Amino acid sequence: MKKLVVMKFGGTSVEDAVAIHRTAGIVAGRREKGLQPIVVVSAMAKVTDQLIAAANAAARADRNGALAITARLRSRHKEVACRLTAQARGEEMSQCNDVTGPAYAHSQTWIDAEFDALDEILRGLAAVGELTPRISDMIVSYGERLSSRMIAEAFAVRGLDGVHVDSRACIITDAQHAKAVPQDVLIEEKLKEQVLPLASEGKTVVMGGFIGSTEKGVTTTLGRGGSDFTAALIGGGVHAEAIEIWTDVNGIMTADPRVCPDALRVKTISFEEAAELAYFGAKVLHPATILPAVQKNIPVLVLNSRNPENEGTRIISLAPHCDSPFKSIAVKKRLTIIDVVASRMLMSHGYLKAIFEVFDKHKCPVDMVSTSEVSISLTVDSNDRIPEIAADLSRLADVKYEGRKALVCMVGENIRGQNGIAAQVFNAIRHVNVRMISQGASEINMSFMIEEDDADEAVRSLHAAFFEKPDPEIFEVEARKSATAEASVR
Ligand code: ASP
Ligand code: MG
Repeated sequence: MKKLVVMKFGGTSVEDAVAIHRTAGIVAGRREKGLQPIVVVSAMAKVTDQLIAAANAAARADRNGALAITARLRSRHKEVACRLTAQARGEEMSQCNDVTGPAYAHSQTWIDAEFDALDEILRGLAAVGELTPRISDMIVSYGERLSSRMIAEAFAVRGLDGVHVDSRACIITDAQHAKAVPQDVLIEEKLKEQVLPLASEGKTVVMGGFIGSTEKGVTTTLGRGGSDFTAALIGGGVHAEAIEIWTDVNGIMTADPRVCPDALRVKTISFEEAAELAYFGAKVLHPATILPAVQKNIPVLVLNSRNPENEGTRIISLAPHCDSPFKSIAVKKRLTIIDVVASRMLMSHGYLKAIFEVFDKHKCPVDMVSTSEVSISLTVDSNDRIPEIAADLSRLADVKYEGRKALVCMVGENIRGQNGIAAQVFNAIRHVNVRMISQGASEINMSFMIEEDDADEAVRSLHAAFFEKPDPEIFEVEARKSATAEASVR
C-alpha cells in the first residue's frame, strides 16, 4: 500500500462549496504525490453550535425554535451539496439558489432523510423536556455525519475515489457522553477491518471527526474541537506516515503577527512546546488531542488550507537542536490577579487547599500561582464571578484583586538549564512593570504577568531581543529576508 496520510479539515475548511472544492484540490495534490489520504472532517463551520442551540431550544419546549434552526441547516446542507455536484459537472450553480427548483430538490434525498430523523428527535425532546447527555450527543453528531458523507460524495464526483465510512463504526469509546474516552485497541481493529481495505484499493476514505460510538452502538462525542483527536486516533490506529491538520493559519508563529509584524513561522516544534503554547492565544490545536500520534512518533503538521503551498508547522516528539532559546512568545490577556494575604496562617497545613476549594466551588480555573511567606497571588481569566470568589476568600484572609492584566509566556526547550536567560528576558523589558513571575515545572516555559496595556510593546521588545538572528533550520527566515530586500530596494 502507498504511504498513508491522515488529513483533517476543520469547520472553516469545509464551510461551503468553495471551501470544500479547495479541500478537494488539496487532497488531490497529496494523491498526485503518491500518498494515500484518509480524510477526517469537522462539521461545516458553526453547525455544531447551531445543533447545540437547537437541542437547548427543544429542551425548553421551544419546538418551533428548534425546528427553525434545523430547517436553516437543512437548506444550507442541501444547497452546498447541490453546488458541489453542479460545480463538478460544470453546470450552472445558480440553479442551487432556488429552494423549490429541481436541482435543489434532487440534491441528495439522504440529506432530507437525515434531517427528518433529527427533527423527530427534537420533537420528542420538546415533548419530554429532558436533555440527557446521550441525546445531546445524538443531536450534535449530525454535524459530522452530514459533512463527512457530503464531502465523500463531492470527492467521488471529482475523481478522487471518495468513499464514506461512518466514524461510529470505528471510533469505539466508553459511554461518557460529551467527553467519551476512545478505546485504542478496538479502534485499531475496526480501522483494520473497515478502513485499511478501502485505502489499499486506492479509495479516499472520508470520515467525520468528533463522533464515535460505544461497543453497543450508542453515539458518543469526544468533546468540543474533537476532530483533531479523531485524526490522531486514526493516524495512530493505521500507523500513518503523518497527520495533517488543515486550518486557516500558517501554523505556529514566533508571536502574534498582528502585534509583531516581524513574527516568523516556526517550522518545527516539539510536542511539549506546542502543549505549553496551546493554552495561550495560539489556538492552533489542543496538543492533548494529538497525543495518540505523538506517542507513536507520528509527526503532526499544522497547515493552512487557504495557503496550501505553505509548509506550516511540524510537531514532533523531540525537538531538534535550535540556536535560539525560545520558539515562541504567547500572550494571554483579560486576566485578573488575586492577592490573598494572611500573615499567620499561610503555611499552616490545609490552608492552600482551602483557598483552592473556593476556586473549585466557583468552577474557576487558576492560571498561575506564586507564593511568599505571607501571601499567595493567583491569576484567573477575568469573569463576573470574581467578586463572589473574593468574598469567599475573604473569610480566609485579606483579599485584593485587580483586572486588566496580561500573561506573557515564552516557550522553548533550549532554556532548560541555561544560565542568564531570565536576565536577558527582563533586561529586554526593563521599562515594564512585572507583577508575577513563574518558571513552569516543565522548565521550558517562562511566564510573567504585566499590565495589559504594556503587553503589545513588551512582545515586540522581547521578539526583537530573541529573534534577531533566528535559526534558519527552525524558523522561516526566507520571508523576512525577502521583506528586507524589498525594503532596501525601495
Ligand atoms: N464540530 C465539533 C466542534 O465544533 C468538533 C470539531 O470541530 O473539531 O466542536
Ligand atoms: Mg475545530
